[in-house]
Amino acid sequence: MAVTFSQIKSNMTPYRNPNSVASNVEVVGWRIEGWVVTRNLLFRSTMKGQGQRSDKDKYGRSSYLTLIMFNNVTFTLTKGEIYSLPVNINGETQYAELPNLNTNTIRLKCTCPDFRFRFEKELYDVGGIIGNWNRYKKVPGSNRGPVNPDHRLGYCKHVYSLLKSLKIMGYVKE
Ligand SMILES: [Zn+2]
Repeated sequence: MAVTFSQIKSNMTPYRNPNSVASNVEVVGWRIEGWVVTRNLLFRSTMKGQGQRSDKDKYGRSSYLTLIMFNNVTFTLTKGEIYSLPVNINGETQYAELPNLNTNTIRLKCTCPDFRFRFEKELYDVGGIIGNWNRYKKVPGSNRGPVNPDHRLGYCKHVYSLLKSLKIMGYVKE
């Protein structure tokens, strides 16, 4: 099973707009990793935003690890029009084709609570997660309802912000 970013986006609940909350998120560090044999391309990023949770920096902000992996990406040793994204693989520069949000399937991960509690299970069920999903426990005594009652696919503001940056830099297409 596999899913593209466009499919996730079109399944996202209509009343949720990550654009409206993404302005306080910034990319503080990132790198690209590639696997030639399994044809995966990974954008690994540290994202920072205002939050009340752990991992606070000296300004009291939280930082999260945000991963976006594209599948079925091919690499070459020679730079070309299609193969234009340089990736250091085992000390050697290879060139990946630019991933396409409509055609390359995608797998996501973010360590923030929103991603974990609201979307991780749903994405896992369609093959859209890197690794496993973290089964969460209900807070004892809590009568709060489920955060994603319709089981919609979706993504947090960190994934949104990282993808927005990648689009601006011309590293992904749609
Ligand atoms: Zn997140």
